[in-house]
Amino acid sequence: MTRPLLNTRLAGLGNSIFGEMSARALATKSINLGQGFPDVDGPPEIARAAADAVLAGHGNQYPPAIGIPELRAAVAGHQRRFYDLECDPDTEVLITAGATEAIAAALLALLEPGDEVIAFEPYYDSYVANIAMAGATRVPLTLRAPDFRPDLAELESLITSKTRLLLLNSPHNPTGMVLTRAETEQIARIVIDRDLLVITDEAYEHLTFGRQHIPFATIPGMRGRLVSVGSAGKTFSFTGWKVGWATGTPELVGAVRTTKQFLTFVSSGPFQYAIAQALDLPDSYFATLAADLKDRRDMFARGLREIGFEVYEPDGTYFITTDIAPLGEKDGIEFCLSLPDRAGVVAIPSVVFYEDNPDLGRTMVRFAFCKRAEVLREALDRLSVLAG
Ligand code: GLN
Repeated sequence: MTRPLLNTRLAGLGNSIFGEMSARALATKSINLGQGFPDVDGPPEIARAAADAVLAGHGNQYPPAIGIPELRAAVAGHQRRFYDLECDPDTEVLITAGATEAIAAALLALLEPGDEVIAFEPYYDSYVANIAMAGATRVPLTLRAPDFRPDLAELESLITSKTRLLLLNSPHNPTGMVLTRAETEQIARIVIDRDLLVITDEAYEHLTFGRQHIPFATIPGMRGRLVSVGSAGKTFSFTGWKVGWATGTPELVGAVRTTKQFLTFVSSGPFQYAIAQALDLPDSYFATLAADLKDRRDMFARGLREIGFEVYEPDGTYFITTDIAPLGEKDGIEFCLSLPDRAGVVAIPSVVFYEDNPDLGRTMVRFAFCKRAEVLREALDRLSVLAG
C-alpha cells in the first residue's frame, strides 16, 4: 500500500499540541501552563447541579438534538442580558459539544471544496484542521507583534471571488487581542459589502480586561450572515464538560445542526442542566471572574518581564504571548521541549499557531495564566533560572 493512511487533506496535522504538552507536564511533574484550563473548578453549586442531574435521571439518555429547552432558553437569556440581543431558543440556538464542535460543524456546513476562508493567523489549532476537513483553503490575515491588531486594508485585499467566509476569533487565542468596536464595525461593513458569511468564536467573551467584547451580532446588517459561537467551559471553568453553543438565524443554525448531528449527535446531557443554571448566575459572578483573572495577568506578566521575557500583554483570554529572544533563546520549540527539564514548567511554542508564516512565531511562547496565584508564583520562581 503506497497510499497514506491519513486523509491527505490532514497530512502533517499530527496530535493536538495541547494534549501532547499536557501529557508532557504530567510525565515530568511540571507546572502546566500549556493547555488552557483552570486549576480550580467552577462554582461548587454548579458542580452540584450536574451531580444532581445525573442522580435525578436528567439528561442521562439522549437529550434533544438541538439541546435541552432549559439550556437554550438560558443561552437566549444570556444574549439578552449581556448584549441586548434577541434569539429564539427554539430555532436560533444550537447546543454543541463545546465551542470546538460548533466551529467544526459550522465550517463543514457552510463550506464547499475550493472555498476560501479568511482567518486570523496565529490560528487556534482546530481551525486549520476543520478548514482542511471541509476541503476549503485558509487565507491568513496575519496578526503581528507587539499589538496583534488586524490590518483591515489587508483584509479587503485578501477577499477574492472564492472567499466564502471569515472565521474570526475575539478575544483571540493565542494573542489575547480583543477587537475594538471600530474594528468590529469596519469588518462588518466589509462583510456586508462583499456579501460574505462570518463565524465568530467568542469562547473568551467574558474574559476581557478593560476592553469590552463586542459581538458581531450587535452590529446592524450582520443578521443572516453570522454564526456566533460561545463556550461554557471557559466562562464557568468546566472545560471537561464540553458544552458550547451556536446562535444565528434559523437558516444558519439549521445548516450547522445538520452537520453537528452527524458528528456527535448530542452530548453532555446532565451537564446541560447545570450550565443552564450557570448562565443565570448573577452579574457579579462574571465580573469577579474577569477581575480575578486580570490580577493574575498583571502579576504573571510583571514576573515574566522581570525574568527577561518580552511580554505582549493580552486584553482578553487567559493566555500571555511572550518573546524569548531577549533571553538569548532562538527557537520556541526547542525552548518548550527543554523547559520541563530546565525549569519544571510547560508552555506552548506559538510557532504551531503560525501555520503560514512560521518565521513570525519562531521565538514566541504562549503561557496559560488561568492557574492559582501561588501556582503562578511558583512557576515564576522556577522560570527565574532563565534570567541572564
Ligand atoms: N482552548 C485550549 C487552549 O487553547 C485547549 C483546548 C484543547 O485542548 N483542545 O489551550
